Amino acid sequence: MKLLKNFKGGVHPNYEKQHSEDKPIQVLPAPEVVVMPLQQHVGAPCDPVVKKGDQVLMGQVIGESSYAISAPVHSSVSGTVLAVEPRPSVTGRSVMSVVIQNDGQDTPIEEQQNPILKSSDPNQRIDVDGNLIRQAINAAGVVGLGGGAFPTAVKVTPPDTSHIEYLLINGSECEPYLTADQRVMEEYPDKVILGAKLLAKAAGAEKIIIAIESNKPEAIKILEKYAVPNEIEVITVVTKYPAGGERMLIKAVLNREVPSGGYPHEVGVLVHNVSTAWAVAETCLTGRPLIERVITVTGSGIKEPGNYLVRIGTPFKNIVEAAGGFNGQPERVLCGGPMMGLAQFNLDVPVVKATSGVLILTEKEAQKYEPLPCIKCARCVDVCPVYLMPLKLEAFAMNEMWEQAEEYGAMDCIECGCCTYICPSKRYLVHYIRLAKQEIIAARGKN
Ligand code: SF4
Ligand code: SF4
Repeated sequence: MKLLKNFKGGVHPNYEKQHSEDKPIQVLPAPEVVVMPLQQHVGAPCDPVVKKGDQVLMGQVIGESSYAISAPVHSSVSGTVLAVEPRPSVTGRSVMSVVIQNDGQDTPIEEQQNPILKSSDPNQRIDVDGNLIRQAINAAGVVGLGGGAFPTAVKVTPPDTSHIEYLLINGSECEPYLTADQRVMEEYPDKVILGAKLLAKAAGAEKIIIAIESNKPEAIKILEKYAVPNEIEVITVVTKYPAGGERMLIKAVLNREVPSGGYPHEVGVLVHNVSTAWAVAETCLTGRPLIERVITVTGSGIKEPGNYLVRIGTPFKNIVEAAGGFNGQPERVLCGGPMMGLAQFNLDVPVVKATSGVLILTEKEAQKYEPLPCIKCARCVDVCPVYLMPLKLEAFAMNEMWEQAEEYGAMDCIECGCCTYICPSKRYLVHYIRLAKQEIIAARGKN
């Protein structure tokens, strides 16, 4: 039997993909009002370039920044700007947002960039210059759609000294419940391949590997049809959370270790999500910026779980309504999956570029625990995929010993939640480690 690509640590939660994995992507009509946060990415927030009362067109830039690490925000509908003001966001904080009344016309902006690709043939040789691809991705505001939200144009521009050998396309989608990436691979394999080739050209990568968890046999079968010897390879990785973490994927697929505090390009690799590849292909083929994405709406707390193509800026309440409404009384609504998702307390928050799903859990699914004393079983250490000692980090954070937390590698924590998941005492390990990271970053800013 062939051994699957694996990595150290990780856990096997209930995957619960059955709610939505067989549901084809449905297009959700644009809502009457969209809320477009001006910070949807890692880096500098955008400044608004429209004001209340302005008429805007679909795809028009409504926020931009002069900083190198940022991504412009575009209107996902045509209509009238109702307000430019702070609005609640999925992060729990208020974010300056442009609120737009949809006129229902979807009138596109005329001067949108010209498509840089003429043919949608996934087998074509990419002759377009890498610089032109980077410019197109940047102008379109594409960011990592796997949840990272790092500006894609910046990520495909590695430092001069680095040499990118592999572009790793991340199709693992290891978070339980979520199936949006799986459906993108199954329904838009040509765009995933084309996007991967464009990203590889932009980054100067020599080879493309598409890595998919073993629990998605259909996606593997479909994408294998496109694999080109010596150019694109489809590799099956073990179904284990968090296989989709960049470091885990690089270790599993290429047996390379990203150094502590380092970046994948330092070991000759770039990792991009399959939906990001899809978005890159879309923008290069149509000239349209990133104004929509595929998300999963799932959990036992929603009547019609499924996968939906939604406009960025669509409030969660519209999404819940489109998916048939709540199935009984929901216990918890999450933006994202159960391991790394953010709890939501206000359904007015909008879908942003990094929103991969909306998860609605019933009381039975959302188990609540009171933490008990640590019994020093070390299970949290065994499952940590980046070799940390979560019990120690938690103790440091509880005692505000930030320097010691840093010394013990708190900044390497990817906040995967495996330690919290496995802990028999149900301690809030990742919660405290996250706090330690925030304090360490704050202290670095003061020095
Ligand atoms: S898993 Fe929980 S109980 Fe066990 S050592 Fe870690 S923190 Fe303590
Ligand atoms: S310490 Fe961080 S990286 Fe390690 S298991 Fe816990 S959350 Fe994941």
